[in-house]
Amino acid sequence: VTLAGGRRVPYPEPTSAAATRIGKGNRRVGTVIEVQLRSELHRRGCRFRKDYPIVGADVRVRPDIVFTAARVAVFVDGCFWHCCPEHGRQPTANPGYWGPKLAANIERDRRVNTALTAERWTVIRIWEHEPIEEAAGRVVLALRR
Ligand SMILES: [Zn+2]
Repeated sequence: VTLAGGRRVPYPEPTSAAATRIGKGNRRVGTVIEVQLRSELHRRGCRFRKDYPIVGADVRVRPDIVFTAARVAVFVDGCFWHCCPEHGRQPTANPGYWGPKLAANIERDRRVNTALTAERWTVIRIWEHEPIEEAAGRVVLALRR
């Protein structure tokens, strides 16, 4: 973990096996749904960019999927890291570490949404728990608008 100014803070020791599982599990699942969503969109004939940097006046971000012409930016959000209302339960271990970290994630998500919307982007956020069909459907709908 690196703070502004380059000071490095040691990663806290996981105090329980459960907390370790939560962290690792969410990262893995998040990657899987990204891949599945991309291939489902591809199957439906949508052509997009991945790792495409959007640089605006107030924002610099690489959404997971970007439709440049339609100005649609898609983010796949992990339930844990982005505090999904259904599964985003905060770990009881190391609350002093996780609390501010997760709050900062949510705050950043909000800032990104606001900045992109101000620059006429349509922002779509997909939860990692969403069924792929449903998620792809939401993206396609936004592309038609
Ligand atoms: Zn969830």
